[in-house]
Amino acid sequence: MHGKRNVLTDLLDCVLPRYCVVCGKRLLAPERDLCLGCLADIPYTYMWTERGQWVFSLFYYNDVSPYKRLALSVKYMGNSSLGVRLGRLLGSYAALAGNGLGGIDIVAPVPLHWTRKWKRGYNQSEMIAEGFVSGYGSVCGKYPLLLPSLFKRRRRTASQTYVNVADKVSNVRNAFVLGGDSAVVDALVKENGRVRILIVDDTCTTGATLLSCSSALKTYGISVEVLFASVAKVRED
Ligand SMILES: [Zn+2]
Repeated sequence: MHGKRNVLTDLLDCVLPRYCVVCGKRLLAPERDLCLGCLADIPYTYMWTERGQWVFSLFYYNDVSPYKRLALSVKYMGNSSLGVRLGRLLGSYAALAGNGLGGIDIVAPVPLHWTRKWKRGYNQSEMIAEGFVSGYGSVCGKYPLLLPSLFKRRRRTASQTYVNVADKVSNVRNAFVLGGDSAVVDALVKENGRVRILIVDDTCTTGATLLSCSSALKTYGISVEVLFASVAKVRED
């Protein structure tokens, strides 16, 4: 079966060649999205081993880094399955790190405004969150609940990608409220007294979006502990 699949992949690669998202080189049959060279050189943040880092991220990029294409591919080029795979990697590292990242009960993505989700066809943060739950659970045996509608956007904001750093904070201030899935949090708080929630975004620059989301949870007080994760972390250098 495995051999058959390889032959099919080889055939498909002849008809529809696939290319590395990062360097543009043609991919070999066993490679997916990234060539082995780019996969080996991912600029990991290693933030899962450093305590005191408030946001847990997989890799860095800046404006000149070719790895920026990885983030853009998930967000703007319809590559939702790459989002799931990167999320799985992020989840595995989080589970391996243990320490401050252990015992996550709920994973909730930063929501898109419905008009943007409708246009894009998916919410990239939701894809990453889905992968996270699977990667995290497969390593530590505890699968957190995925709550795609824990937050909702009160209004449509300008895309953070094209807003300058000074405007990012005011752009998303009070942009989020609790959505329908908050009933699950209510039930868990009632049952366990305390719930650990991880909020997931695709990219983190200033962290304004993640913090704005978490402020929607403040009504829970100390019953809810909030953690943050993103696949990509923008390095300002
Ligand atoms: Zn490559």
